[in-house]
Amino acid sequence: MQYSQPLLDDIRAAVDIVDLVSRFVNLRKAGSHWKGLCPFHAEKTPSFTVNPRKGIFHCFGCGVGGDAFGFVMRQDRLSFPEAVRALAKTAGVALPDERGAKSGDSGREELLRVMDLAGHFYADTLWKPAGERARAYLEERGIDTEIARHFGLGYAPEGWESLLTFMKSEKVAEEALIATGLAVARENRAGAYDRFRGRLLFPIRDLQGRAVAFGGRGFGDEQPKYLNSPETPLYTKGNLLYAADLARPTIQSQNRALLVEGYVDCIMAHQYGFTGTVAALGTAFTPAQLALLRRYCDEVVTFFDADAAGQKAAARAEELLEPTGRGMAWAVNRSGAFEGAGTLRVKVALLPAGHDPDTFLRSVGSEAFTERIAAARSILAYALDRALVDPDGATGPRARTTAFARVALLLAKVADGDEAAQLSREAASKLGVDPTQLWIEAQRLQSSLRTPPAQSRPSPPASTAPVERDLVTLLLHSDEARATLLALLGESDELGQPSLRAIVEALRHRPDATAESLMTDLPTDEARSVLSSLLVEDRESVDARVSIGQFQRRLERSQRLRRAREASQAIAEAQAKTGVAAPMHAELRTLHKESAVVYEITGGVAQSLEHGTSTSPRSSDE
Ligand SMILES: [Zn+2]
Repeated sequence: MQYSQPLLDDIRAAVDIVDLVSRFVNLRKAGSHWKGLCPFHAEKTPSFTVNPRKGIFHCFGCGVGGDAFGFVMRQDRLSFPEAVRALAKTAGVALPDERGAKSGDSGREELLRVMDLAGHFYADTLWKPAGERARAYLEERGIDTEIARHFGLGYAPEGWESLLTFMKSEKVAEEALIATGLAVARENRAGAYDRFRGRLLFPIRDLQGRAVAFGGRGFGDEQPKYLNSPETPLYTKGNLLYAADLARPTIQSQNRALLVEGYVDCIMAHQYGFTGTVAALGTAFTPAQLALLRRYCDEVVTFFDADAAGQKAAARAEELLEPTGRGMAWAVNRSGAFEGAGTLRVKVALLPAGHDPDTFLRSVGSEAFTERIAAARSILAYALDRALVDPDGATGPRARTTAFARVALLLAKVADGDEAAQLSREAASKLGVDPTQLWIEAQRLQSSLRTPPAQSRPSPPASTAPVERDLVTLLLHSDEARATLLALLGESDELGQPSLRAIVEALRHRPDATAESLMTDLPTDEARSVLSSLLVEDRESVDARVSIGQFQRRLERSQRLRRAREASQAIAEAQAKTGVAAPMHAELRTLHKESAVVYEITGGVAQSLEHGTSTSPRSSDE
C-alpha cells in the first residue's frame, strides 16, 4: 500500500521526534539540537543528534540517519507500512481504509496482536472466579490489586486448551500461537496445547509497553517454579529488562535506575514508590541490558544481601569489566583530565542478611530502603577489596607487589575515568604506594588491553566531496537555488555519489517539497542517512545568492564541457566510420562554441578544469 505524500507529511509533522527518540535514548539539549548516545552503535560520547524542527535524526558516529519513520523502522525492526501505522496511531492521524494492506507486514504485527490478545485474556481470567487461587497468592505476597493491574498480571487457567479455545474465537491461527511460544506443537499428532497452565503470569513488555513474552509462576510443587516464554521473533533473552516501559520516565528524571532480580521484587519496589525499578529477568546482567540502561541514566543501583554481597558484587563487577568491545574507555588526555564520561556507574546497596528488596520493603519500609540506596557503594570498590587481598592469605612485600599488579589490572578495565581515579587513590593508600605509580601502571595496561576501535565500531560512510554536499545542501535549503540550479544539473552526473544523486532526483520530482519530506522518497537507507546528515545541523545562513551564482557558473561550465565532449566524440565516431571528411558541421560548431565559452567563463584557465571538478567553486572561480 502506498501512502500519499501529504499524509506522510501530516504524520511527520504531528510526531515530536525528541519525544519519540527519548523513549529509547537519553537526550540532552545542545543548542537548538538534542544529543545522546546512539542506540544503533556502541559509543561513549554522544554523536547521535536530533533536530526537532526538521524532525530528523543523524548519528555522526555510524552515519545512520532519517526521520521518525526511519527511526521506528530501525529501532523496532518494522517495515515501512508498519512504521507509518505505528506513528499514525501515536500522532492520532487517521489512515485511509486498511483492508488488504497487510502485504507489507513482516508478520511481527500479527504476533504482537496475538500477544496483546493473550495478555488481555490472562488478565481478565485473573479477576474472574477462575483466578481465585492466583489472587490468593497475590494477597499472600502483599501485592495490591491496583499494582497487579498496572503490571498487567494474569492467570493462565488449568487445562490444555483454554487459551487455544479463546484464540480460535478470535480467528488466530495455531501457527501464530506456536510462533509466539504461547502454544506448544504436539509431538506425535497434529494440534497444539497451551504452554502456560495454572500459573500466575507476568507479562514481559518491550519499551513501548507491548507484551512480547510471559513469565509464569507455579503455586505449588509444579516444576519449574518459573516457566518463561521461549525465544521468539518478538523476544530475545537478555535484551529486555522487566518493567523498563513503566520505569523509564522515573529513570530518566532521576538519572538513576534501581535493578533487582525477581518479578516480585520489582513489583514491590514500584508499589512502595520506587518507580524507577527494573528487573534483570535472569541471574546475569547482560551487556545488552547495560546498554539499554545507559541510554536513560548514568547510574544503576543494585541490591545484595549483606552475606553474599562481597563475593557476588566482585563477581558481578568482573562481568561488567570484561572487555566486550566497548568495555575499557578511560584515558588521560593531555591536560591531565579524564576522558570517558557518559559511562554507567554501577553501585551496590546492601540489604541485611537473608533479605531481598521485596522482604525488606514489606518488613522495614520505604524510608529505610531509601537510606540503603543513599549508602550504596561502587560495585568496583568490592572488586577492589578483593584485588587487594592475596588469595592465599599471604602478606609481606611479595604479596604487596602482586596486589599492586592485580589492582592496576582492575583499574585498567574501569570504563569511567573519574571512578578509576577515585579507586586508584583508595587502593594506593591501602597498599601504601604512590597513587601516580599505580596510575601509570594502569594506563600502560589499558593501552595494551584496549580493543582496536576499528573492530568495535561500524565505519562511518565514505566521505564525499564537500563541494557536492554543499551544492545539495544549498538545493535543499533554498527555493531560489532549486529554481536556478536543478535544470542545470543534467543527469546529475556532476554528482559522483549515488546518494546525493538520489536526493537530487527526488528533488527533481517534487521541487516544492520541504527538505525533510524527501526522506520517504529516497530509495535506500544510505541515501536517507546522507539526507539526514545534511539536514540535522542547521546550516549557518551563508549568503545563498552568492553560492547560487557560484554554483550556477560552475554547472553551466560543466554543462558546456559535457556538450563539447559529446560533440568531439560524435565527430570522432563519424570520422572513424566515413573518413576524416565526414560532414560534421553542427557538431564542430558546438564544440568550438562551448569550448570558447568555457574558456571565457574561467578566465582563460580552461586546461585546469578537467581536474578542477572536485575543488570548491569559491577557490576555482575567483
Ligand atoms: Zn550511531
